[in-house]
Amino acid sequence: MGNAGSIARACGVVGAGGAGFPTHVKLSAKAEVFAVNAAECEPLLYKDQTILEEALPTFTEGLMMCAEAVGATRVLVGIKEKHREVIERLRDGLPPGVDVCPLRDTYPSGDEHILVYDTTGRTVPKGGIPLDVGVVVNNVETILNVGAQKPVTEKWLTVSGAIPEALSGKVPLGITLLDVLRAAGAPTEGMGFIVNGPMMGFVTADLLQPVTKTTSGILVLPAGHSLLQRKGRSAQAVHKIAYTCDQCMRCSDFCPRDLLGHIVKPHKAMISVGFSPDEATAWQKTALYCCECALCTLYACPEDLDPFRVMVESKRALAAKGVRPLKEAAEPIPMYDYRRTPTSMLVRRLDLDRFMAPHRFADFNLHPKKLTLPLKQHAGVPARAVVKAGDRVAAGGLLADIPEGALGAKIFSPLAARVLSVDAQAIRVEVA
Ligand code: SF4
Ligand code: SF4
Repeated sequence: MGNAGSIARACGVVGAGGAGFPTHVKLSAKAEVFAVNAAECEPLLYKDQTILEEALPTFTEGLMMCAEAVGATRVLVGIKEKHREVIERLRDGLPPGVDVCPLRDTYPSGDEHILVYDTTGRTVPKGGIPLDVGVVVNNVETILNVGAQKPVTEKWLTVSGAIPEALSGKVPLGITLLDVLRAAGAPTEGMGFIVNGPMMGFVTADLLQPVTKTTSGILVLPAGHSLLQRKGRSAQAVHKIAYTCDQCMRCSDFCPRDLLGHIVKPHKAMISVGFSPDEATAWQKTALYCCECALCTLYACPEDLDPFRVMVESKRALAAKGVRPLKEAAEPIPMYDYRRTPTSMLVRRLDLDRFMAPHRFADFNLHPKKLTLPLKQHAGVPARAVVKAGDRVAAGGLLADIPEGALGAKIFSPLAARVLSVDAQAIRVEVA
C-alpha cells in the first residue's frame, strides 16, 4: 500500500459518495488511469462542486497522492460541462497533465461504469469493476479526505429543496439530521425528507438519525410531494401495481447499464412478480447487473410502476440463492448517445424544477452537545469499539478500529468528548 493508502487507512477514509467502500483497499490496486468522479449527477446536490470551489488545494494534494499510489499514468476529472466556472478553476489550479473531461448533463453520468466509458472510451465488463479496464475511480470528497491527512470527523453535505437557497457545507459526523436542518434554516413541520438525493436516496421520518460518512445531502420536500409517495411505497404496493405492467419496455430502453451493453432488462423482472420462485428466478437474472439508479421507475415508466424496486428485490433474492454476476466483455449499444436522460427533463419529471434554487457554501460551524457514531458507516464489517462508557477522548481520538484482517474503516471522535455508551450498533458521546 502506498503512502496515500496508509493515510486513508489510518484516517478512516471511505468512499464518501456511495456505499462507503474503504479507500485504502481501492488505493492498494495498480491502474493506468486514476479518475475523479465529480459528476454529482443526483439533482439538487451541490457539495462536490462546493468542495472544488472552497478546498481546491487540499483536493489537489489528495488527487496527486492517490494517482501516485495506484501508479496512474493518466489522471482525469469527470465533471459536467455545465459547471463552466469550476472547470476553468480546475484547468487553472490542477497540475499540468491532469485532464478535465466535461460530461453531458445527463443522469446517471456519475455511475462509475458510465463515467469510465464517457471519459476513457473503455467499457467496464458486465459484472466487472473499473479496475478490469485499468481505471480506479474515487469521488471528490474521498480525495479531499486523503489530501487532508487527518482523521475523518466531518462530512460535507447539501441541504436543498423547499428552502430559500440550497446550502452546502461540512458538519461533524454523528450530528442529527434535525440539527443540520435547523442550522440551514429549513422548515421541518409539514415536510418530508430524502437523504442522499432524490434518485438513489431514501425517504426518512427519523430526523434524529446521525450524519454518517456517506450522507451526501438532505432534500426537504412538502409532505405529500409525489416523490415522497413514490419512494415511500410499501413492498406490497409495489407488487400490487406490478401486475398492470404492459411490457412496453421503456424501463429497459432507458436503463443506463443496458445502454452499456450489460443486458439489464427491468421489464423482464416485472414479469416475475407473482410467479413461483423458480420461474421468477429465470426472469430476474439480469437484475444482477442493475446499478440501482432508479431511472426506470422515476423517469422511464409511463404507468408509474416500480421496476427499480422489483429489480432490487430480485437482486437480493438471487444473491440469497448464491447466484453471482458473471463477468463478460460488453459493448455499448448503438443508441448509447441518443438515449441518455437529460437532467433537465428528469428534474421536471420528478416535479423538482420549482426547487432548483440558487446554492452556496455555508459555514455551519456546529457544536452539538451529543453525537452518535454508528460502528458501520462503510462497506465491510462494523468497526470494533476501543473505548467504553465513561472514557474521555480528544477531538480526532480513535473510537473504533478495523477488526484484524477484515474489510472496514476506523471511526474517530469529531470533538473532545466523554463516552456515554457503547453497544453493537453505535458509540454515543457527550461533547466536553
Ligand atoms: S435501477 Fe433500473 S434503470 Fe437503473 S440500472 Fe437498475 S434496472 Fe437499469
Ligand atoms: S416501463 Fe413500466 S409499463 Fe413499461 S415495461 Fe417497464 S415497468 Fe412495465
